[in-house]
Amino acid sequence: MSEPTRELLWGVDEISVLLHFALFIIAGIIFLIGIARAYKLIRMGRNDENRFDRLGNRLLLVVKDALLLLRLFQKEFRMGLMHILILWGIIVLTIGTAVLTIADHFTSEFFRGTFYLVHEALMDIAGIAFIAGTVIAVVNRYVLKPTRFSKKWPFANDDAPVLLSLLLIAVLGFIVEALRLSAGYPAYTAVIGGFLSQFLPFDLSAYRAVWSIHSLLALALIAAVPYSKLFHAIAAPINILTKSDRISARVIEDEEYMGAVTVRDLQWRDLLSSFACMRCGRCQDNCPAFNSGTTLSPMYLMQNLRKNLTDSSSILGKIDEPFTLVDAVLDSEAVWACTTCRACMEMCPVYIEQMEIIGEIRRGIVESGEAPPDIRDFLTNIQKQKNPWGEAKFKRDQWIKKSDVEVPTVKSNPEFELLWFVGCAHSFDSRSIQVSKKLARILNDIGVNYAVLGREEGCCGNDVRRVGEEGLFQLLKEENTNTFDKYGVQKIFTASPHCYNTFKNEYEGYDVRFILEIIHDAIKSGKLQLKHPVKRKVTFHDPCYLGRYNGMYDLPREILKSIPGIELVEMPRNRNRSFCCGGGGGNLVREYPGEDRPNNIRAKEAAETGAEVLAVACPFCMIMLEDGVKSSGFDGRLQVLDVIELVYDSVYGE
Ligand code: SF4
Ligand code: SF4
Repeated sequence: MSEPTRELLWGVDEISVLLHFALFIIAGIIFLIGIARAYKLIRMGRNDENRFDRLGNRLLLVVKDALLLLRLFQKEFRMGLMHILILWGIIVLTIGTAVLTIADHFTSEFFRGTFYLVHEALMDIAGIAFIAGTVIAVVNRYVLKPTRFSKKWPFANDDAPVLLSLLLIAVLGFIVEALRLSAGYPAYTAVIGGFLSQFLPFDLSAYRAVWSIHSLLALALIAAVPYSKLFHAIAAPINILTKSDRISARVIEDEEYMGAVTVRDLQWRDLLSSFACMRCGRCQDNCPAFNSGTTLSPMYLMQNLRKNLTDSSSILGKIDEPFTLVDAVLDSEAVWACTTCRACMEMCPVYIEQMEIIGEIRRGIVESGEAPPDIRDFLTNIQKQKNPWGEAKFKRDQWIKKSDVEVPTVKSNPEFELLWFVGCAHSFDSRSIQVSKKLARILNDIGVNYAVLGREEGCCGNDVRRVGEEGLFQLLKEENTNTFDKYGVQKIFTASPHCYNTFKNEYEGYDVRFILEIIHDAIKSGKLQLKHPVKRKVTFHDPCYLGRYNGMYDLPREILKSIPGIELVEMPRNRNRSFCCGGGGGNLVREYPGEDRPNNIRAKEAAETGAEVLAVACPFCMIMLEDGVKSSGFDGRLQVLDVIELVYDSVYGE
C-alpha cells in the first residue's frame, strides 16, 4: 500500500503558478519597502538608553509576553485567547505553507507518510484556531464593543478590512482543501476539509477560482502588513524585547538635550512603539485624564505619532522637516492633563511608555519657556519657597512648633538614625499636618530614633521632574543631598509616596522606607498595640506612586486588616488598576480641565462601595479626594482618612 501523500499545487495550471510566483515577489518587495521605511523612521529617534543589555532576560520576556501573551492574558483573558489563537494559527499556517513551497520547488520526498499526516492535521487545527480567534475579535469589536471602543481614534479605518481579510483567507483555505478532496482524494488527517468536501461537488474551475482568490488575498495582506495595523505583529515583540525596567524618569545625559520638541527628539524606541501600538485602548480606558473628558488619550498619542511619522515621510522614509510634537500628536491641554499616574504604561500589553513621551514633551515646552502660567507659578513657588503653594519657606517647621507632641530635629537629636523627610504637603497643608502630628506621637511611642530637618528641609523635586523642569529637579536634588551630607543622613523615611518614589528611585545611596513599612514592623513586633476597635467600613485607594510605581499594594491592606473592627471593602478598580486621584504631575495646584475631575470620579467609586471611610496613604490623595468627596456631595457620608490616622485611632482610642 502506498504511503499517504498528495500532489502539490494540485489542479493549478502552470500559468497561474507562474503568475502567483510573480505576485509573491511583488508583494515581498512592497512588504520590504514598508519595513525599510519604518526602520528608517525609527532610526531617526535618539538613542540614549541601552535597550539590549541583559539579553537573556529580554528574550525570556519575549517568550512570555510576545509568544505566550501572558501579560495580555493577565489583563484580559478573552483578548489573550483571541490573540494567541490568531498568532499561533498564523505561525503554524505560515510554516506549513513554507513546507509546501519547499516540497514543491525542491523535493517532495519527505512529504509523505507520518510527516504528511501530521502536516495536514496541524494545518487544519491552525486554520480552525485562526478562524476562532478572528471570530472572537469580530464579536468583541463589533458586538460586545467594550467601552474603550466607544471613543475611537478618528483615523482608525483599517480594523474592519483587516479582520474581514483574515477571516476570508482562512475560510477560503478550507474551501480550497474541500474542493480538492471532493475530486475523490482521501482526506486522511485533513478532517475539516474532508468533512466540508461532502457538501461541495467537484468543480475544477470553481477550485481554481477559490485558490486564486485565497492566494491573492494572502499576498495582498502580506504586502499590507507594514502599512496597516497588522504591523504590530512585527513591532510589538521588538517593543517587548526593548522594555525598560526603570522606575525613575528618563535620564538623558546630553547637555544639548532640551526635551522633545520635534519628532527627532524622541527615542527610537518611542517611534518603534508607535508601530507596536495595536490600538487596543487599554491605556485610554484607565487614563484619568481621558475619563475626565480632557483631550488626552495615550492611545491617540501613539496613533497620532505613527500617522504623522508616515504621513510626513516619503515612501522610503525620508522626512525633510521633522514635525513639531505639540498639536501634531497631542494638544497643549492634553500635555498638562497627564497626572503621571502610570496607568497607561501598566496596562499596555506591549510596554509602551506613553507617560514618558508626555514627560519629554513637557520638558521641551518648559525648556522653551512656554509652560502655561499655572505650571510656571508652580515651579516658581518651588524654586523660591520650596513648596508648590508658595508658602514662605521659613514656615515649614511651624507645625512642629505648634505641635503638642515633641518632634526631634537634626539639631535637637544629632544622633538620629532615621531622617523623617516630612515633605511639602505634610508640612504646609492644614489637613495633612493633622496626620503629621499623629504620626509624630506614634513614632515617639514606638521608640524610633528619628529627626526632621525643620526649616532646612526642601522640596524633594518629584513633581518638578514630572512637569519637565529637569534643571530645577537637579538643583533641588543637589541641595537636599548637601543637607543630608551635612547631617550624615543615610536612612530616610517619609509618609508621602511622591517623596518616597524620588528618594528611592531618583536619588542615589540612601536607604529609603515608606512610613507604613515602619508601622507594619511595629505592629508585628508588638511595639504598636492596636487595642481599640475601629468599627468602620473602609475602602483603600492605592496611591499611584506607592502602587504602580513601587509595587506596594499589600502592606496598607495588611495594616488595615490588622485593625480590629475594620471591614475592608475594595473598589472595582484597585491595586495596579487603581484610578488616580488626579493630583500628580503638577495637577495638585491646577484647575483641572475636562468635564468631570478624576477626584470626583474616584470619590463616587468609593461611595458606591458603601464604605464610610476612604483610606489613603498619600497627602496628595488626601487633598484631592477630600475635595472630590465634598464636590460630589458625599460629605458627612464618606470620610477621607490616612491609614496612619486609622492606626492612631486604634492605638489611642481617639
Ligand atoms: S500617566 Fe496616567 S494620566 Fe498620564 S497618560 Fe498615562 S494614564 Fe493618562
Ligand atoms: S498604547 Fe498600548 S494599551 Fe494603548 S492602545 Fe496602544 S497597545 Fe493598547
